[in-house]
Amino acid sequence: MEERFYKFSSFSCFPEIVQGISNRSYGEMKFGSAQDAEVIKNRKQFAKDLGIELNQVIFPHQVHGNRITAVGKAEGGKGALETSGSLIEADGLITAEKGIYLGITTADCLPILIYDPANRVVAAIHAGWRGIIDQIVPRAIEKFKEFGSDPENLIVGVGPGICQKHFVVKNEVLKIFLDRYPSVTFVRNKDGYVDLKKALFDDLKKAGVSKDNIEIADFCTVCDNGIYGSFRKEGEKGPKMIAVIGLK
Ligand SMILES: [Zn+2]
Repeated sequence: MEERFYKFSSFSCFPEIVQGISNRSYGEMKFGSAQDAEVIKNRKQFAKDLGIELNQVIFPHQVHGNRITAVGKAEGGKGALETSGSLIEADGLITAEKGIYLGITTADCLPILIYDPANRVVAAIHAGWRGIIDQIVPRAIEKFKEFGSDPENLIVGVGPGICQKHFVVKNEVLKIFLDRYPSVTFVRNKDGYVDLKKALFDDLKKAGVSKDNIEIADFCTVCDNGIYGSFRKEGEKGPKMIAVIGLK
């Protein structure tokens, strides 16, 4: 059966994994961008399509930082059905527990889902330019090592997100990327363009992930705006999407 949402083919050979990324057909997925009841209804539909319950999913309060937090059953449902309360302030979640699912919200930033099939650990990461500069990828791989994982075993999916052609950055941002990621920057008519997907790919490889284990979705939230919401293109009315991964 054709799925309504995006799935990485790299994870499809692991029946123990639940994974998926929503698209605009689900509507708004982020609290604060629509009525709570609507966000909950949309998220519940996506959870149902994944074959899980929304109260099994954990969403952090994302701050464009580099913190990856380990979570377990005790945190189940946090951030999934509520806008406030004791949310976990982080841009990535990691777990080795079964039956709980990790969720993150994105629009143009990139969702990253990671699985270590040898050690059975999963993570969901939110990576925008700030997180990339703050080294969220090496931090995530370090977290896996704390769980006993070997980076060589990690399978990584980088989801739909803004492409280089559509990602013009401010001068101060361009300077940082020119300095630290020269191969992912491009300057034309004084405008700087950054390829976030390539920056992530390079960071993953540098952290020890095999290039053959990195799958990058071709979709761009601006180029493929009919499928995915984009803050850059649509402002606040562009629906945010969620990416979810977990062990059954
Ligand atoms: Zn594009």
